[in-house]
Amino acid sequence: MERVITVSSSAPLRAVLLKAAGSPRLRSMAEHSALTRPVVRRFVAGDTLDDALAVAHDLAVDRYVSLDHLGENTLDRAGAFETTGAYLALLHRLAGEGLTDRVEVSVKLSALGQALPGDGPAVATDNAAKICAAAAEIGTTVTVDMEDHTTTDATLETVRALRRDWPATGAVLQAYLHRTEADCAALAGPGSRVRLCKGAYAEPASVAYQDRAAVDESYRRCLRLLMEGEGYPMVATHDPALIALAVRMGGELRAGRDFELQMLHGVRPSAQRELAADGHRLRVYLPYGSAWFPYFMRRLGERPANLAFFLRSFTTRG
Ligand SMILES: Cc1cc2nc3c(=O)[nH]c(=O)nc-3n(C[C@H](O)[C@H](O)[C@H](O)COP(=O)(O)OP(=O)(O)OC[C@H]3O[C@@H](n4cnc5c(N)ncnc54)[C@H](O)[C@@H]3O)c2cc1C
Repeated sequence: MERVITVSSSAPLRAVLLKAAGSPRLRSMAEHSALTRPVVRRFVAGDTLDDALAVAHDLAVDRYVSLDHLGENTLDRAGAFETTGAYLALLHRLAGEGLTDRVEVSVKLSALGQALPGDGPAVATDNAAKICAAAAEIGTTVTVDMEDHTTTDATLETVRALRRDWPATGAVLQAYLHRTEADCAALAGPGSRVRLCKGAYAEPASVAYQDRAAVDESYRRCLRLLMEGEGYPMVATHDPALIALAVRMGGELRAGRDFELQMLHGVRPSAQRELAADGHRLRVYLPYGSAWFPYFMRRLGERPANLAFFLRSFTTRG
């Protein structure tokens, strides 16, 4: 197994990186710079659907994949419909290339119009329904990503609505939120697919644990609730201690009932291959598209050591 270097928590730097993720100026500068591409490519399959499918084919040899068309916080209707169209095109290609037994899709409701003034949540739900219908038709599933805490209730409401017609629609819960244990209990019913992650946004102390140890403790409690439940837990973490715990709990609590491990593309790839080779179902979250900046900045926020490589890419061509 590869050596994991744990970077000590750098909360102020992480806060700066997550704030920068929302800057339109930085975003435009970075997304238009050819110099950043090699560094970004570690986490993002590429700009086009062809790029994404090429990487998905490689990963699908020993792993499962959830493809994400990058984009978030759309503030115009046309953009939301365009993103929906991109997902429909993606699903069409997955079917054509025989990938539907290994590859599903992840969607962000803010890319489907959730933040539009007035009827945003309804627009996003309608758009997500089109994607769920197309996915079901070709025999795959959709997981609805979770974004910042101001959207949690609306997102879970949309997931509940989607599950009436497409019960396999996946939800995501974030262990850093105080509310998440209760949400895990509520979503641990039969057939409920739930991805549990730590959480990637800058959240205030009023709603989220700030301390890494408290987040990890919450993750362990939430994991137990999901593993004991009747649903399908999707354990999304790169944390070796939590992965070991999930594998142990899986053996003790889920005799014959499935669960899966999930990691992000580009993070601990050799651990991914080893877990898959050991017989674990391992799914890789694989984003693609040109709107990569906010996603990429969250990855830097998780491991500020990545920042040095990124900054160097602006100044060197090597
Ligand atoms: C499949 C998947 C889907 C996700 N979906 C969502 C979502 O919908 N909403 C949401 O808020 N968050 C999502 N996340 C992100 C998640 O919330 C965390 O921010 C992220 O996974 C880092 O937490 P960790 O559990 O890996 O633990 P950490 O304690 O952050 O990391 C553990 C170890 O993993 C390695 N590592 C972690 N991140 C990186 C990185 N970026 N670069 C290099 N090494 C790294 C390091 O070795 C680190 O020591 C998702 C994560 C995964 C794996």
